[in-house]
Amino acid sequence: MIVPLPTVKCSLNWERMRMNYRLSFRSTKSLWVTNLSQQCSRGSSGLFVPPCPPLSPEKVREFQRFITLSKKLLVMTGAGISTESGIPDYRSEKVGLYARNARRPIQHSDFLRSAPIRQRYWARNFVGWPQFSSHQPNPAHWALSTWERLGKLHWLVTQNVDSLHTKAGSQRLTELHGCMHRVLCLSCGAQTPRGALQQRFQVLNPTWGAEAQGLAPDGDVFLSDEQVRTFQVPSCLRCGGPLKPDVVFFGDTVDPAKVDFVHKRVKEADALLVVGSSLQVYSGYRFVLTARDQKIPIAILNIGRTRSDDLACLKLSSRCGELLPLIDPH
Ligand SMILES: [Zn+2]
Repeated sequence: MIVPLPTVKCSLNWERMRMNYRLSFRSTKSLWVTNLSQQCSRGSSGLFVPPCPPLSPEKVREFQRFITLSKKLLVMTGAGISTESGIPDYRSEKVGLYARNARRPIQHSDFLRSAPIRQRYWARNFVGWPQFSSHQPNPAHWALSTWERLGKLHWLVTQNVDSLHTKAGSQRLTELHGCMHRVLCLSCGAQTPRGALQQRFQVLNPTWGAEAQGLAPDGDVFLSDEQVRTFQVPSCLRCGGPLKPDVVFFGDTVDPAKVDFVHKRVKEADALLVVGSSLQVYSGYRFVLTARDQKIPIAILNIGRTRSDDLACLKLSSRCGELLPLIDPH
């Protein structure tokens, strides 16, 4: 579920890429910086959203009825809600990361055991950060934030680490897998903002030139072994321990207290809406099972099959950012 690096499906040559995404390089002394404007988030969104049938008025009415009947709605979101903001998911057919390349997310145990693996991870993360952190909420995030403000939303659980719900103003929110915008010390547990770490990277690597190679056609970053070897990774300012994004990598488990908290919110709810998740990962799927056991009605909004289609009283295969703003949350 983790997005270790932002990726953008880019055109096959640099000139077209520049035109499409306003990608530019500027040189500050010998430091090269990639600069992707926010236009990128909006302009690239369609590339990561799987095709889907047009909205059916009957389905919209059914969905409206589901939302109107609920007085304590729990919403769980996954990567599918952020594809319209230009962040690819993993599992969508043809447009997800797994369909695009053979690279797989970093494993928690690899990150812990190997300093060189951490160095490679942070070098790539450093290059990708300006783009990743510039992604903006889309109408689906804004709609859920409005639902909360109007008292419709009991709780929001997200499997995403992109901070887009927070950027949209959601507060009754649990980030199940953490957030890329925070950094955690593996020794003392200190939490610090990821933005501050970017400045420390820049100070420690004033002439590091990897960015000049820019983004690959799939938006990932090419880094040679030599470039990685010379990249300086800062450690915790308090204790000198190694730093890790405050996210749950693959192979790690979600904090049991957090899981327990969400189970309680699910049991308090009178309806569960899943938005943009195939529910393949157990950490989110288990809450659907809890809802089923509690006989709480379940609706799923996701393009493509999910693990729980047979448990849902309503399944919608539409773009989140098109459907959610149509719903009256009163
Ligand atoms: Zn520390």
